Amino acid sequence: MDPIDDREREFLALTAQLRHHEAAYRAGAAEIPDSEFDEMFERYQELATALGIDAEERLDAKPGADHTDGFETIAHEVPMLSLEKLSPNRRDSKGEAMPLGEQLANWYDRRRKDLELDDDTKLELLVEPKVDGISVSLLYQDGALTRAVTRGDGRSGDVITRQVLAANAVPATLKGMPKTIEIRGELHWPRPAFEAYNERLAAAGESTLVNPRNGCAGLMKRKDPDGLGDAGVTSFLYQVARYEGGELPATQGEVLAWLRKAGAPTYEGEYFLAEDGDAALAYCDGYGERRGNLDYDIDGMVIKVDRLAHWDLLGGTGHHPHWGIAYKFPPERKTTILEGVDVQVGKTGKLTPVAHLVPIFVGGTTVSRASLHNFVELARKDVRVGDTVYVEKAGDIIPQVVAVDLAKRPTDTVPVPRPTRCPTCESAVVEEEIFIYCPNPACPDQIRERLRHFASRKAMDIDGLGEVLVEQVVTALGVRSPDQLFGLKSTDLAGLDRMGKKSADNVIRGLEVAKGRGLSRVLNALAIRQVGETMSEDLAAHFGTIEALLAFAARYVAGDEEAVESVAPEKASERGAIEGMAKKSADIIFAELDSAPVRAILAGLGAAGVELNAKIATVTEVDGVAGKTFVLTGALPTLKRSEAGERIKNAGGKVSGSVSKKTDFVLAGSDAGSKLAKAEKLGVTVIDEDALLAMLE
Ligand code: AMP
Ligand code: ZN
Repeated sequence: MDPIDDREREFLALTAQLRHHEAAYRAGAAEIPDSEFDEMFERYQELATALGIDAEERLDAKPGADHTDGFETIAHEVPMLSLEKLSPNRRDSKGEAMPLGEQLANWYDRRRKDLELDDDTKLELLVEPKVDGISVSLLYQDGALTRAVTRGDGRSGDVITRQVLAANAVPATLKGMPKTIEIRGELHWPRPAFEAYNERLAAAGESTLVNPRNGCAGLMKRKDPDGLGDAGVTSFLYQVARYEGGELPATQGEVLAWLRKAGAPTYEGEYFLAEDGDAALAYCDGYGERRGNLDYDIDGMVIKVDRLAHWDLLGGTGHHPHWGIAYKFPPERKTTILEGVDVQVGKTGKLTPVAHLVPIFVGGTTVSRASLHNFVELARKDVRVGDTVYVEKAGDIIPQVVAVDLAKRPTDTVPVPRPTRCPTCESAVVEEEIFIYCPNPACPDQIRERLRHFASRKAMDIDGLGEVLVEQVVTALGVRSPDQLFGLKSTDLAGLDRMGKKSADNVIRGLEVAKGRGLSRVLNALAIRQVGETMSEDLAAHFGTIEALLAFAARYVAGDEEAVESVAPEKASERGAIEGMAKKSADIIFAELDSAPVRAILAGLGAAGVELNAKIATVTEVDGVAGKTFVLTGALPTLKRSEAGERIKNAGGKVSGSVSKKTDFVLAGSDAGSKLAKAEKLGVTVIDEDALLAMLE
């Protein structure tokens, strides 16, 4: 096979996988650890570069957003970016795995070239542990903490000042600081304190927390932070992002010592000044053996150019700075036997292969099942029943089957067949991109999974209707579609196993409350492919009512050119009226919305009294915006386009998908496509986000 073809194939498969995982992440149902996503993304970037794919045709890199409702969000003056990674999965142009030492040497040489250093000039590196916690940005004014903000999506984050102070997680004051200084650090929860906290929870009969990192994130997002003081959350401060009115030492190592003297917790005693890449790598490798003795979890090391004057010179990309790179410890890896492969049917009918393993203790837990993600991945790894497989697990990460020990393969194995029929209802499967689906909406597995999803917290959030009860209403009461849930009576439910009158009444009340959640929740709850939380919100905000949405879906499906062009412009570089919607997903989404089963469910929901209109804030007309027509294009620095659109509508303005002479303003962000060009040609006023916000005030 031609190697170019191989790379293209891999690139296409990766694109689909990344899209999928991004959507799963946004829906709050991540299937793979962030670290693996990062690795896939890096490989994607590498291939994209090798194949000469234009920047604007590529997927965006987005650090995972952490916004919580009810928290104030604030834009970061200096974005909180990711770090570039040395990756055990990186390959060279011949497809050979590239040793970490070689990767680091390449990085180091590039930095030396960027800085135009001659051979006699040293470039020292400071190596620090990378603790696995929650990034935080801390603003100190006259030495007192005035604001703490989470990383959020990297551009803006949530304000958690009260929480960090109540928890004593960072110093309330620091000595000898410049007038204004923004310090970056990592909140973390040392294991002994975390375990003590869990023991207290268990003693009180409450459910315990899964791991320190998520536990720490949860505490820092408590709306009522009272009583956090004795939980034992703490921090490491490791970086100055900006400062005014004062002096700073010249190197990262000196900054750490200076922060320490000022009263900040730092990686004192744990960092190392290396004279070159080799020395830095040796320290990282050696540190791996010590990490088990620390009382906090670290997921790697960070290697930084020591001299701070170099940081500005080196710059970076929108994803990571060039002054540093992360080294990751290899996750714990063991071998075991693959006993079988099960196929699970999900709510959209997607078939997922799941590995059954001879139980093995790895990464702190006993593992007997592991996701194999999809059948392309399965074929790529060529995992066969009876094989000795390598299983990896690190920290709270989902266990992974990473490879096969071919030397131990028994002689009589066969590749796992791609299913041609659904294992549950035996319908012939359909294939789409890298995934295989059971197309039968009446498939019992799909029915159950869809109802579970419908009732789940991020969908209709039906109090009392958990997974076990869903199973029962399906098998014992014959419920098939979500609208039928609203026809249930307390007496129906009270007859079920382990259900009393009180819990039955509770479920009925839960259903009653859920009726008012509004269009975006309903759309998310329908389990339509490609429609997760974000897409549901965007659709609801754009169309406002179910009638408008369904009417549009019908036009789209009928091939109405204007409809198609408005959401899925022909040129990939242009953005349609709905953020993040590409032609391929639009095809799927509107076809499903227009399908008879979905229309029937929506009709049933409407008849049951479920709210099918978007919850729209009341319009308060703002002079200069009311009555004007806006067209939005490009990515805005802080607002999502849907949010900007909503604010315009709330102020009495109109939002349109295409630029014409009637357009009053074009709101343009970065990567604005041809709409901007057209606006300029027609002489339409072009504004940016700041200008819009000023108009809305
Ligand atoms: P990542 O999110 O994996 O791309 O890595 C970047 C994150 O590592 C930053 O946002 C920090 O929260 C975290 N981190 C932990 N320790 C350090 C450190 N010593 N230096 C820089 N970043 C660190
Ligand atoms: Zn089926």
